[in-house]
Amino acid sequence: MSPDRLTFHDETCCRCGTPDDLIRISEFGKALCPDCYPEFVRSRIERTVRRFRMIPKGRHVAVAVSGGSDSAMLLHALARTRSRLSFRMTAIHIDMGLGDYSNACIDIVRRQCAAARVSLEIDFVRNYDITIEAISTWPVCAVCGGVRRALMPRLARRVGADVFATGHTLDDQLQFMLKNILSGRAVSPPPVLPATSFGPAKAKPLIQIPDAAGETYARIVDLPIIGEECPHFLPDTHRFKDIFDLLEKQAPMGKGQFWQAATRTARSACAPCAARRQQCASAPSAVFARLSRAKRRRSSSRQSPGRPRHLASLRRGVNP
Ligand SMILES: [Zn+2]
Repeated sequence: MSPDRLTFHDETCCRCGTPDDLIRISEFGKALCPDCYPEFVRSRIERTVRRFRMIPKGRHVAVAVSGGSDSAMLLHALARTRSRLSFRMTAIHIDMGLGDYSNACIDIVRRQCAAARVSLEIDFVRNYDITIEAISTWPVCAVCGGVRRALMPRLARRVGADVFATGHTLDDQLQFMLKNILSGRAVSPPPVLPATSFGPAKAKPLIQIPDAAGETYARIVDLPIIGEECPHFLPDTHRFKDIFDLLEKQAPMGKGQFWQAATRTARSACAPCAARRQQCASAPSAVFARLSRAKRRRSSSRQSPGRPRHLASLRRGVNP
């Protein structure tokens, strides 16, 4: 992002007025000093949790942590707001068995949880006799993502969580949405997905926080984050994010406006939701998710002899 495009920014921190060391994140449309930035991000996250009623009072939240900056920010922010929002929390992590990289992730996650004073539960793919490797046309990165999405809700349920919180950001949501549109479904993934037979309700408290915010938050708060990229990461899987980065560059705060408009459009397709001004289990994308799961159940029951049984069974629990 080129700072010269951000002509609307103030020359002082929008909270305390200091002109020094300003942080400008285009998607926020504000200038903030390093002292005010963390609390600003936390207040945005808290506002999102309240707006979409993600965490009912007194409930238990399982926070998925990977070692990266987004989930580290989520864990730290929820830990700092849990007394105000009145909930309990546990961090959960899946060891994907990817050698040195997975070992480094576990070490980082343990340090993040210690810093946030949150207990941690770890599950291991080796417990399920699974090895993360390429299968047919699926590269390692896709298999890893599918297995992780299947195991996380199960682990969340096992720790007794009522809600399962993930670190999906605004950029992730926009990418999902664009993929939906390109598949002929003009829907925006809802901020909260209902509980399934595999796990508790899934909430995305970072849905209004851009990718760019996480690393800055981790640096200012001094959170440990994994310094290396997964050796199996495929940059091509994030190519749609480049489109929204270009949009943001040409129209500052455009990502947020785009998401708001798309969410309103999806909601207006569901009359009960429109009346209550909130997402619900009958929102179009949630309905589609249910139909997709039912279809996957039917197809997996007719699986071909050559298809790996463990992957077919795990895919039944995949959330969008
Ligand atoms: Zn300030």
